[in-house]
Amino acid sequence: MADLGNPKQTIEVIKQHQFAFQKKFGQNFLVDSHVLGKIVRAAQVTKEDVVLEIGPGIGTLTQYLAEAARQVVAVEIDGNLIPILKETLKEYHNVTVIHNDILKMDIKQLAKEYHEGKPLKVVANLPYYITTPIIMGLLESHAPVGQITVMVQKEVADRMQAEPGSKDYGALSLAVQYYAQVYLAANVPPNCFIPRPNVGSAVIRLDRHKQPPVKVKDEGLLFALIRASFNQRRKTLQNGLNNSPEIPYTKEQIGEAIKSLGLPAAVRGEALTLEQFGKLADYFGVFEGKEG
Ligand code: SAM
Repeated sequence: MADLGNPKQTIEVIKQHQFAFQKKFGQNFLVDSHVLGKIVRAAQVTKEDVVLEIGPGIGTLTQYLAEAARQVVAVEIDGNLIPILKETLKEYHNVTVIHNDILKMDIKQLAKEYHEGKPLKVVANLPYYITTPIIMGLLESHAPVGQITVMVQKEVADRMQAEPGSKDYGALSLAVQYYAQVYLAANVPPNCFIPRPNVGSAVIRLDRHKQPPVKVKDEGLLFALIRASFNQRRKTLQNGLNNSPEIPYTKEQIGEAIKSLGLPAAVRGEALTLEQFGKLADYFGVFEGKEG
């Protein structure tokens, strides 16, 4: 099968199968062999790896992954792509295509079935409408997932890498940085896809931390604080937390906790580092019912 990583072959396959793009599935197929090579290199795929690919499309990236990996398990939601994948991937005996919604899959079970429970490497040109649930799902679940190398919107890549005080800094930056180190592998312009997306894209790699960089007594409370702080970005941290139904402390207790960090009373959530959010969460532990 010819390399699909160019406009000519991709258009040919699409025409031959009379495939109609479905916007609702975030279908933007890669047609640039240079970018495809970069993704596989950024993911450091070797013959030891079992790769989980999310959304193989017509199988373009899948072919590149199959050359480099021991095994590729590709999960595709669009039933119209399944017969196409059968055709484009027929020469690759180390590829399994599963027709399903990735958000409904049991990743632990997949790792068990295809890699004796060992971590899977995730590599994907993600459907942009569900980037955050996919990435957060992979990071938060206790499923065996190693490195994650994915194409996302440039704006989302910027948010993941953002530092306190910048306009892109928010709940996503903190959540991703709690679990992983973020590397930018490439910026990718719209003309590398068919159809062209309206926004720029970027390939990022998330290397999971062995231990979170911040140790807290109550992880659930840490994430509740982060969510509450950025839900009302324009408000002070104290008011944001006080207004949140997720945060069970009084305004005075919140004020006391902020003061304990040596921060000004009118500080906004966007100024706090992950470490400061961690300290805040642990400080709340001194109040009734939240000990230890
Ligand atoms: N990997 C291909 C490529 O690079 O050319 C296609 C990438 S395209 C951006 C995203 C793919 O994800 C599409 O094939 C789409 O049908 C699929 N997809 C969308 N939502 C999905 C879901 N919930 N589960 C699995 N696949 C999904």
